Amino acid sequence: MKVAIAGFGIEGQANNAYFLSQGHDITIVDERELLPTDLPYGAQAMLGPGIFEQLDGFDMVVRTAGLSPFKIKTDGKVWSGTNEFFAKCPAPIIGVTGSKGKGTTCSLIASILKAAGHTVHLVGNIGDPAIAKLESIKSNDIVVYELSSFQLWDAVRSPHVAVVLGIEPEHLDVHKSFSDYVNAKANIASHQTPKDIVVYNALNPYSIKISRESKGSRIPYQHDKAAHVADGYFWFGETKLCKTEALLLPGVHNLDNACAAITSTWKWVKDGEAIGRGLSEFSGLPHRLKFVRSVNDVAYYDDSIATTIGSVVASLRTFEQPKILILGGSDKGADYNELAKEIIQYDVPHAVLIGDEASKIEKALKKAHYETVTNLGSDTTMEAVVQTAASLAKSGEVVVLSPACASFGMFKNYVDRGDQFIAAVNHL
Ligand code: ADP
Repeated sequence: MKVAIAGFGIEGQANNAYFLSQGHDITIVDERELLPTDLPYGAQAMLGPGIFEQLDGFDMVVRTAGLSPFKIKTDGKVWSGTNEFFAKCPAPIIGVTGSKGKGTTCSLIASILKAAGHTVHLVGNIGDPAIAKLESIKSNDIVVYELSSFQLWDAVRSPHVAVVLGIEPEHLDVHKSFSDYVNAKANIASHQTPKDIVVYNALNPYSIKISRESKGSRIPYQHDKAAHVADGYFWFGETKLCKTEALLLPGVHNLDNACAAITSTWKWVKDGEAIGRGLSEFSGLPHRLKFVRSVNDVAYYDDSIATTIGSVVASLRTFEQPKILILGGSDKGADYNELAKEIIQYDVPHAVLIGDEASKIEKALKKAHYETVTNLGSDTTMEAVVQTAASLAKSGEVVVLSPACASFGMFKNYVDRGDQFIAAVNHL
């Protein structure tokens, strides 16, 4: 077959290696004229702006997750690494989607399954590209797949267990609309069979809507009938499992994530001791509400990945102490009036604003009669930001970088933003 590998990032490289090994005639296609990695020796390539619209003549175009299927013009079939993986994977797949908490929930699922002695493959955004693992997966193993809306966009199959966490507006820079985003995510459930399971968030209308697409069993988490928290313990229905202290991650949202993980693995793991061990063996992913250190009795937390209102609220709910909040960055489609309405409900003595969006956030906060704002704009450094926050924080308070914005402009990405925050806190 004549196959175009559309997009040559990490996933595209894995797609290339896989389809090459199947003996196809491969052409690498990318909008960038200069690729960050060298093309494989002897590879055919079509590079440059607009190239994805000129793909007639290929039998199949394998798109990388981040490339919209709407951008591709071909008379062949549009396919993806995710679709190929679903079609060929010999093991059951637990797929996890949602706006926030995917990486954490996938990690908790993998940890519970491993504690119970299963061989687990963690793939997707959090792990390796799924397709690169395909050869090593045996039918008795279990795959945990973090599925973004980009991966699900044109998915023609659904996983055996679909986990749908809370959904809120996100990635509106790439998706045409919020309904396009929700429709993309719905593919996690819409191709399920009656033997499959969808685990969903009964408090989130979009998660409920997606779960209704499934022909399988619908099980809500944090619900009396499935995994939930009561009296300091995790339960499944009426079965007491383990103390909530087994979970090392802070915040109510992480109790929710743990309940989603316990519910989705229940088919395989019904043992409270193994579940407790699995939860306690995961200490959290970097830049997700991670404690950095305390200075002068002020605790600093790096939540650089919190780019949506929901994740900022999750961090505000986590701490009883007053919080100095560092907010701002580049636009990711968040509604700052909504953000301001949330912030005023919590004990936030001061907000430090940074980046291109700082003035817009300031305006929204002031509209909500929140006045204690320091706007540092984009012409500043993380050192200065942290020093400003430190000068505002009183003993017993918390400083959280939970920005509600993307990182571009001042930083390379959220990792760079978080790393610079950690470095600045360590310099205090
Ligand atoms: P994802 O992989 O979906 O981006 P992560 O697990 O990496 O999610 O967490 C990203 C951010 O979202 C962090 O700031 C984290 O504190 C926050 N978060 C995690 N779980 C939830 C949840 N269930 N609800 C709201 N925010 C959450």
